Amino acid sequence: MYSPQIRKLIDLFSKFPTVGPRTAARFVFYLLRLPKEEIQELTSAISDLKEKVKLCEFCFKSFEGEGELCEICRDPRRDKSLICAIEKEIDLIPVERTKKYQGLYFVLVGTISTLKREDIKKIRAEELLERANKPEVKEIILALNPTTEGEATVLYLERLLKPLNKKITRLGRGLPVGAELEYADEETLSSALEGRK
Ligand SMILES: [Zn+2]
Repeated sequence: MYSPQIRKLIDLFSKFPTVGPRTAARFVFYLLRLPKEEIQELTSAISDLKEKVKLCEFCFKSFEGEGELCEICRDPRRDKSLICAIEKEIDLIPVERTKKYQGLYFVLVGTISTLKREDIKKIRAEELLERANKPEVKEIILALNPTTEGEATVLYLERLLKPLNKKITRLGRGLPVGAELEYADEETLSSALEGRK
């Protein structure tokens, strides 16, 4: 019922996280009403994203500017003996907001529900193993969401990291089962960080 161009954009927006076809259609009709200049601003912001934003070579967080490392990995005040592994980059924000964590991060790509080789490859488990193996690293915090997939991924990563003989911890109690780090309040997350074991 939609024309091909509209259909195409709806399909593209439908691939966005949390966006279904109905929301995607709303986006498209919103765009149709916008003046040409605003459309141009939007399209150049999207193409600049890939041009200007890089992924950190150590932690895979996105950043802009010179060099290969993000502002956290470059910061001499950060504790290089700690790595906090998170499911997605957005989860870094609530942890930073607690101001209780001074170590480095590692951004995984989601979770695994199966132990298929290609899934394991996709979440950057091998890269985490390599970072954790650096002599200065003393502790790896597996700060994944307490969901079924998060749990399964933590178990897998624990097994993978075990031979390194380093301290491997998880967030302590406080985060309700099924909760997401992204929506956790500062106080709960602070105590979960301090109570890690
Ligand atoms: Zn980094």
